[in-house]
Amino acid sequence: MARYWNFSAGPSALPEAVLKQAADEMLDWGGSGMSVMEMSHRGKHFTQICNEAEADLRELLNISDEYAVLFMQGGATAENAIVPLNLLATRPGQSADFVVTGIWSTKSQQECQRYGKSNVAASNRAETVIDGKTCAPGTWMPLPNSWQVNPEASYLHLCSNETIAGIEFADWPLMADLGAPEVALVVDASSHFLSRPMDVSRTGMVFAGAQKNAGPAGVTIVIVRRDLIGHALPICPTAFDYTNVARERSMYNTPPTYAIYIAGLVFKWLKRQGGVAALEQANIAKATALYNRLDRSDFYRAPVHPFARSRMNAPFFLKDGSLDDAFIKGAEQRGLMALQGHKTVGGMRASIYNAMPMEGVQALIDYLDEFEQANG
Ligand code: PMP
Repeated sequence: MARYWNFSAGPSALPEAVLKQAADEMLDWGGSGMSVMEMSHRGKHFTQICNEAEADLRELLNISDEYAVLFMQGGATAENAIVPLNLLATRPGQSADFVVTGIWSTKSQQECQRYGKSNVAASNRAETVIDGKTCAPGTWMPLPNSWQVNPEASYLHLCSNETIAGIEFADWPLMADLGAPEVALVVDASSHFLSRPMDVSRTGMVFAGAQKNAGPAGVTIVIVRRDLIGHALPICPTAFDYTNVARERSMYNTPPTYAIYIAGLVFKWLKRQGGVAALEQANIAKATALYNRLDRSDFYRAPVHPFARSRMNAPFFLKDGSLDDAFIKGAEQRGLMALQGHKTVGGMRASIYNAMPMEGVQALIDYLDEFEQANG
C-alpha cells in the first residue's frame, strides 16, 4: 500500500493513526456490534462518542462553559449565512463589520449582505508599503490597530487564515483594544483550527469546517458564546437556529455522525501529541523549513509578506511559469500530491496541516532543490 504525501488544502491528510483506528472499528465500534455509521444518533453509544468529542475539544482549546460547542452541517460556506442569520439581530443596528483579506472573507461579507448591512473595517485589497517594501494587494495583512470598527456593529468577522492567499492572523485582537468592546469578534478559523493555541475567550464565536485540521468534510464546528444565542432572524431555518442546536446538544436533527466520530478521534490524537501547544511547535518547524527553502533563491517566489505568512498554506510560484506542468508532474512521480495552486491564483500551494509530518515537508524541500538544480 502506498500512501502519498498529500498537500491538499482540504479535504486533506488525516493522521494515519486515526484512519487505522477507524478501520479497526469499522464493523464493530466498542462491542456495540455495529459501525458508527449505523448507530442511532440518540443511542447511548453515539451519545458517548459525541460527548467525548465535545469534552476533548473543550480541553484542547480551553473553552469555558460560557460557550456552547455545536456540531453543525453545511461547511463554512453555509456558516457564512448562518452567522448573520443568528447574530445580526444581537444589536439594534443589525449590521456587521468585516476584515477583508481574501476570497473567504469576501464571500462571508457578500453572504451577510443578503440579510443585513455590512461594512469593511479593514482590507488588504490595495497595494501597501511595509518596511520600505511594496506589497501587492492580497499579500499582507492589516494590523488590528488600523481597523476602523463600527462600535455599533453586531459583530466583526475575521477569517484568521485565508486558505487561498496563505495569510494568517497569529493573534486575535481584544475588541476593547479596538474601541469596540460591545462588538463580538467572529472568527472563521477553518484552515488553521487546532494548529496552535487559540484564545476563544476573546471571541463571540469561532467556526471551522472540519476538513483541514479537525476531521473529514461534513461537520462544521461552531463555538458560540451563550449570550449571543437566541436572536435569530425570523427567516433563519429552524435547523440553523443556534437556539435549537444548542438546546438539543447538536441533535436537533440528525448530525453528521461519522464525521463527528472521526473528528473525535482527531481530538484524541491531538491530545496524545501534547495538545495544540505541541502541535504549534511542530507547525512552526515545518513552516520555517519550507519558507526558508522557498526564499533561498529567486527560482521560487512565496508572495506573502513574511509577517503575514500562513503556517498552514504556503502559496508559491516558479519564476518561469512555463515549468509549472513539469513541476507538478515530477512532484506526482515522487508521491508529492495536490501541489497545484487554487484555480483563481495559479502557481503552487503546499498545505501542511497538523497531520503532515516534517518528513513530508522534507520530501517536498528535497524535490524543490532537485527541480531547481535540473531547471535553474
Ligand atoms: N473559509 C475558509 C477559510 C476556507 O478555507 C473554506 C474552504 N476551503 C471555506 C470557508 C468554505 O468551506 P466549505 O467548503 O466547507 O463550505
